[in-house]
Amino acid sequence: LIQVSNLSMQFGQQSTPLVVLDDISFSMKRGDTVAIVGPSGSGKTTLLQLLAALEQPTHGHIALNKQKLSDLSPDQLADFRRDNMGIVFQSFHLIDSLTALANAALPLDIAGRADASDKAREMLERVGLKDRATHYPQQLSGGEQQRVAIARALVHEPTLILADEPTGNLDEKTGERVANMLFNLHAQSQSTLVLVTHDMRLAKRCKRLFWLESGTLRVEENHELSA
Ligand code: ATP
Repeated sequence: LIQVSNLSMQFGQQSTPLVVLDDISFSMKRGDTVAIVGPSGSGKTTLLQLLAALEQPTHGHIALNKQKLSDLSPDQLADFRRDNMGIVFQSFHLIDSLTALANAALPLDIAGRADASDKAREMLERVGLKDRATHYPQQLSGGEQQRVAIARALVHEPTLILADEPTGNLDEKTGERVANMLFNLHAQSQSTLVLVTHDMRLAKRCKRLFWLESGTLRVEENHELSA
């Protein structure tokens, strides 16, 4: 499903580059849950951004459903991302001028789908926010905003769900509730879930742990869950 080959990412000048990812390769299957973990500055967010095609790698390539991301033009990439990916950010990134319902409907609205509102309503119900549909982001708590963001990320049934510290801005109890929701929705879908986290309790709920350190990747299978 997802094939990453010889991926490298450098920042800074050619003469003294900061090598964040150094020739890493891996694949992910449908249904996989993957936690990207590692010390601060090890490149976790960078790897997620590359998977989301929000950054271009220095070397190597990423293919999703056999489509090489580097073969797409910026316009095609935007469409491809919208059709195939759902992204959840640490700081929610909802649109303040839109209601919870309109935020959740966004990916389908942009694609011109007539059932956008119905599907978004259904997703809000699944994240327990049916009665908040007409609220604006400022009228919602952090946990509620993240649940709207999760509804938006999953409303178009993406192949790949990417989440960067999805519970990072939430207190422990709210974070756990939001994480439960994300894992439950993922389990009911056919998608692959990749999340970046500092929280090892959250990471250990994933079938695979991707440890990043000094540019290299070590993959650990979580046998308790894989069994
Ligand atoms: P944290 O756990 O602290 O969020 P991280 O593992 O997600 O860190 P990244 O944000 O991926 O790490 O950053 C990896 C390294 O690359 C850091 O040293 C960072 O300063 C550097 N870096 C990231 N983006 C850029 C950029 N656009 N330009 C230059 N350097 C960058």
